[in-house]
Amino acid sequence: MSASSSYLVGLIGSGIGGSLSPAMHEEEARRLGLSYVYRRIDLEGLKLDTSALPDLLLAAERMGFNGLNITYPCKQSVIPLLHELSDDARALGAVNTVLLKDGRRIGHNTDWSGFARAFRRGLPDVSLEHVVQLGAGGAGAAVAHAAMTMGAREFTLFDVDAARASALADELQKRFPASTVKAGGSLPDAMAAATGLIHATPTGMAKLPGLPLPAQLLHKDLWVADVVYFPIRTALLQAAEAVGCRTLTGGGMAVYQAVDAFRLFTGLEPDAERMFMHFQSLLSR
Ligand code: NAD
Repeated sequence: MSASSSYLVGLIGSGIGGSLSPAMHEEEARRLGLSYVYRRIDLEGLKLDTSALPDLLLAAERMGFNGLNITYPCKQSVIPLLHELSDDARALGAVNTVLLKDGRRIGHNTDWSGFARAFRRGLPDVSLEHVVQLGAGGAGAAVAHAAMTMGAREFTLFDVDAARASALADELQKRFPASTVKAGGSLPDAMAAATGLIHATPTGMAKLPGLPLPAQLLHKDLWVADVVYFPIRTALLQAAEAVGCRTLTGGGMAVYQAVDAFRLFTGLEPDAERMFMHFQSLLSR
C-alpha cells in the first residue's frame, strides 16, 4: 500500500461538467479501499481562462492536492508552469496529468499511453504496415505518437487543415526516423493501400454526427480505431463493421488514460478491466 492515507486530485479544463473521470477514479479507489476525492475545476463555470492556471496550480498545491488531470484548453499552456516533464510529454508538447509532490510539479501524458494500451488490448494482432490517420489536433498528436511507438511503418496523416497535418507529420518523422510519415495526398489511394485507419477528428460525436470520410473507402482488410466515444459506436465504426472491419472504440483510450493517471497519482495498480466495465456502465446510463 502507498504511504498516503487519502488522495485529493482534480481535473482542470473548460466545459468538463460531463467528464467521466471523477466517477472512474473515485469508484476504482472505493473498490481498492482508498479515501479518494476527485474534483472538477471547470474554467467555464468559474468564468476563467488559461491565464488562471498559475493561480489554480498554486492553490491546488497549497490545499494538498496529490495531482491534477489537465484537459482542453490547458494541455500546452500548463507546460511552462511545471518543474519536470516525462520524456513522452516533452516529445508530444502536451500534458494531461500533473503530479504534485514535495513542492514539485511533474507533467506526464497518459493520452498516448492510454491509446496504446487500449489498442494492444482490443486489436492485439493487427498489421501496422500502412496506417492512415484522420485528424492532427490534440488527440491526433497523442494517438499518432502511440501508433508510431507501436511500430507503424508507413503513416499517412490527413486533416482538413493541411498545414496542421504537415506540421505534425514533420515532427513525427523526426522522432521516428525508421518509419515513413507523410501528410495529405490522395485519400482514396492511401485508403486502398491501408491496413488500418485511426480516426481522431470530432466527426461522429453526438453533437457533430456523420462520417469523416466516404464509406466506400472502407474495405474489409482494414482495422478501424476511433477516438470518439460519445456515442461509443460511432457512424464510422458501424460503417466499418458493416464491411467486415475489426474495430476499436474510443472508450479504451478514455479508460486507460485514467488507469495510467490513477497509477501515477497513487503509486497503486488499478484494476483496468474493472474500470473498463464501470466506464461502460456509466456510458449506458
Ligand atoms: P482538435 O480540435 O484539437 O483536433 C481535431 C482536428 O480534426 C482538427 O485539426 C480539425 O481540422 C480536424 N478535422 C475535423 N474534421 C475533419 C475531417 N472530416 N477530416 C480530417 N480532419 C478533420 O480536437 P481533439 O482534442 O483532437 O479531439 C478530437 C476528438 O477526439 C474529439 O471528438 C474528442 O472528444 C476525442 N477525444 C477522445 C479521447 C479519448 O480518450 N477517447 C481523448 C481526447 C479526445
